[in-house]
Amino acid sequence: MLVSAGPTREYIDPVRYLSNESSGRMGYAIAREGHKRGHDVVLVTGPTCLRPPSGPEVVSVTSAREMEGALAERFDDADCLVMAAAVADYRPRRRSARKIAKEDMPGGIPVVRNPDIVARLGRRKERRVVVGFALETDHGEERARRKMRAKNLDWVVLNGPEALGARSATVHILGTDGASKTLSGRTKEAIARAVVRAAEETFERDRREDAERSGTGTRGSRREPRARHRDTR
Ligand code: C5P
Repeated sequence: MLVSAGPTREYIDPVRYLSNESSGRMGYAIAREGHKRGHDVVLVTGPTCLRPPSGPEVVSVTSAREMEGALAERFDDADCLVMAAAVADYRPRRRSARKIAKEDMPGGIPVVRNPDIVARLGRRKERRVVVGFALETDHGEERARRKMRAKNLDWVVLNGPEALGARSATVHILGTDGASKTLSGRTKEAIARAVVRAAEETFERDRREDAERSGTGTRGSRREPRARHRDTR
């Protein structure tokens, strides 16, 4: 299981950056839960104040492009990606090697779009399960479902801004087949359990379908799922 968490930072100069509000709590809880349930977990995390979970492999990154590199490198070996990170949508067009004096700070900072990491990986997901998040203030379900289609996600976890930095939240876990599960005022650990279970269900269903399609369970044309659980389970 690959899990991303936390914000990314896009540096303007050595001391200033663009970023998003994100504590990393949700992604860390998902990584912990995945590990608890016997998966091999790699947590790719932007800068947070949280203690790294023991169990999962932890890869620390700063910018969106670093996060993309770390995830893309490991995606082929993964059965599942849970993209809980709050990736900055823009980065400064150039990063100054020197601190820009405040008198010299231009009226506006020219920015360019960052890659949409989960959309890019979603395009080559094959039989992997991909879960994304959507933080919306208006038309939540409609926008979240649109993102699910555009980014080729299996599940999208819809939440509101009150979830930011909080220990608990209300979320809607939306699936491709119209499935919808609401968890009201639940801890992030409880939400993590539901998210990991939803991903496991999709994985198992896809596996069953593959086995049925190939009749005797011999290798089909799709990628053969690897063993899901650690031997130590
Ligand atoms: O489009 P929006 O940012 O609302 O989508 C949120 C989902 O997309 C999250 O799962 C987030 O981690 C992911 N994302 C990404 N790369 C970006 C922006 C968002 O992977 N540049």
